Amino acid sequence: MPTETVPSQAPPRPPVALHGLTKRYGAGDGEVTALDAVDLAFARGTLTAVMGPSGSGKSTLLHCAAGLERPTSGRIVIDGTDLGGLDETGLTLLRRDRVGFVFQAFNLVSALTAEQNVALPLRLAGRRPDPADVARALAGVGLADRARHRPGGLSGGQQQRVAIARALIGRPAVLFADEPTGALDTVTSQTVLTLLRGLVDDRRQTVIMVTHDPVAASFADRVVFLADGRIADETTSRTDAPAVAARMATLEARTR
Ligand code: ADP
Ligand code: MG
Repeated sequence: MPTETVPSQAPPRPPVALHGLTKRYGAGDGEVTALDAVDLAFARGTLTAVMGPSGSGKSTLLHCAAGLERPTSGRIVIDGTDLGGLDETGLTLLRRDRVGFVFQAFNLVSALTAEQNVALPLRLAGRRPDPADVARALAGVGLADRARHRPGGLSGGQQQRVAIARALIGRPAVLFADEPTGALDTVTSQTVLTLLRGLVDDRRQTVIMVTHDPVAASFADRVVFLADGRIADETTSRTDAPAVAARMATLEARTR
């Protein structure tokens, strides 16, 4: 009898893995360790919130993980590619093809319509955007009827949804968001967070979001708390806003 082959039990490769990620700014007396040997992996189809006091390294973590900034040491692996092995051109291509990024301030091009903004990454990549893809991306964020509007004619929440559609048009392995609801009111924030949650649940999108808002973090599958560039605490299942706020308060009391 031939022996049956046992299916591989190896866990699936995470879209993003950080190994000993360290980032220092400045030199000598002015040297700041923004990230201190951080190890983290982000599983496919999960929403992770990154929290922590101001200056704890949240933005640095996101910028390094997204290939926007080079670390001082450590490794960043996105979709199986070690960023350390890429030259500037390779890094630019990886950012363009594998990574989406959403900012607090939306960063839309004010002279372009919503659909032109969404199509922009494809145009910059020298590809001819398929209007059906662009329309689908806008419909996916609930803005099918706003395609011809410019950012100035859209609410903040609508602008952020256009920015999310733009970030997703290239089908990135991971979507990074730095305080995506930081400039929005409570009600509008809910719309954006529900959208991000839906991307994870319906499309298995991987999302990593920096936030200072416990309500935003309550949408996440996992909350990573940073303090002084290190992981200080972590939740591993959905946690309601009061419980997130309590853990933040504990952390702030400890690091004060
Ligand atoms: P957070 O997003 O959690 O507020 P940051 O990642 O922006 O924190 O910053 C972490 C630390 O690194 C802080 O001490 C900050 O002052 C420092 N830092 C961040 N960016 C720079 C930079 N470009 N030059 C010098 N120091 C920086
Ligand atoms: Mg920041």
